[in-house]
Amino acid sequence: MTPLAFLNEELANVERVLKESLRHEYGPNRSRDYYEECASRLAVMRATIAALSPTDRLAIATQLSELGRLSSFISLLERSHLGEFSWPFADAIRRIADLLLTELDLSGNEKRPILHVVADGGGYLIHNEIIPGYSSNRRLAVVAFPRPLKHHVLLHTIFGHEIGHTTLFAPHISQDLTDAILHLVAGGPLASHGSATQWIKDSNAPVDLKSVLADYKARAGHDFEFTQSSWSSWVVEFFCDIFGCLLFGPSFAAAHVALLKSMHSSDFAVGLDNPTHPPYGVRHILVARVTQALGWSAPITLARDGPIFEAEKAFFDYIQMGPVDAWADIFTTHQLSGAIDAIRTVLDANGKLLYTSPKRDDLIRLIRNLCDGIPPVINELDEFGNSQLSSTAVPHILLSGWITWIGSDKLSLTGSLGFFDLNRLCDLALLQQCGIDIVKRGSVI
Ligand SMILES: [Zn+2]
Repeated sequence: MTPLAFLNEELANVERVLKESLRHEYGPNRSRDYYEECASRLAVMRATIAALSPTDRLAIATQLSELGRLSSFISLLERSHLGEFSWPFADAIRRIADLLLTELDLSGNEKRPILHVVADGGGYLIHNEIIPGYSSNRRLAVVAFPRPLKHHVLLHTIFGHEIGHTTLFAPHISQDLTDAILHLVAGGPLASHGSATQWIKDSNAPVDLKSVLADYKARAGHDFEFTQSSWSSWVVEFFCDIFGCLLFGPSFAAAHVALLKSMHSSDFAVGLDNPTHPPYGVRHILVARVTQALGWSAPITLARDGPIFEAEKAFFDYIQMGPVDAWADIFTTHQLSGAIDAIRTVLDANGKLLYTSPKRDDLIRLIRNLCDGIPPVINELDEFGNSQLSSTAVPHILLSGWITWIGSDKLSLTGSLGFFDLNRLCDLALLQQCGIDIVKRGSVI
């Protein structure tokens, strides 16, 4: 078989896979764009391949590589069966992505990203098309939810971090966001990979980290040192934590604690063989400081609100870190406020996405609903018995869920509502809120 014959065979295979993917049932109105983009790319490739010379090995290899990338995106289409993830939450992520990632083409027309959602066996991830190929019209991104956590919407706020990663590759906002990163490396331990190496080996570093460094030296035969790549990975991780916190507020901080603390054997030990992520404890301190800097670290309710106030206090204790190790608090107030301002500018300019705190009365209503086993949306009757529909922001629904869970021993919960039950109620609230928003807009699906 010649290279060109093999390429044609592969093209036919990928076209077949795309057709077969249609036999599945996917999210409402969502897979058509994704399918059409893939089909359009295949049509462009077919025309290009038809004109190739059988001796042009470079062009054949390039086409094969482009085909391979598209094939991996098509295979993800098959993993998005309805019911395997929270589609109201997925819808919220899609709205955020549309607002943040829509680009303009050379004629000034909007090019919206095509975001596809799948249930995956792994963790929270966004497979992002960093540099679209020549055949593409719109950028593809695939959001992967962990299948076992499909109803755990309270944990899904961690997607704020993943969206941070994705935005760094969006050409129209990446420069503004790079400013945020420049603030983080403007001084202090993360100013360079050399200073980061000094910092991690500092005599004041936590004992757990020292032991990991000693273990690394014994195995590798030399001291650990940051490379340019590992240093920049850590900086980006810090940036994404700030980004996620600005997007989802305190419920991002709570998911950050719940998920990441469980995954690490200690706050400061870190894998040094492939050091892509900073120690959990350093990240937690950063997120806690972001909540403090923005006034999101103290109760909105008042002491006279009794149990709800106590529950809120318990929640804010949960997302703070207690006494902070000075070694692990790596950014100055000036660096942090510079990074926050740069991200805030982008979030404000693209759909007012910056988190804002709920009103006290609204938060109380949402928590009372949950205590009664009712989804936390605000829907009241006026004096004539007509339903008064309100828009409740997704982060506020999730905040009420987190406060009710962390402060459950302060509240009187109907029955024995556990973490899973509260997640289901919040998931239902997101679904109801989608319905309320449709009614308020006066549109019908
Ligand atoms: Zn990350």
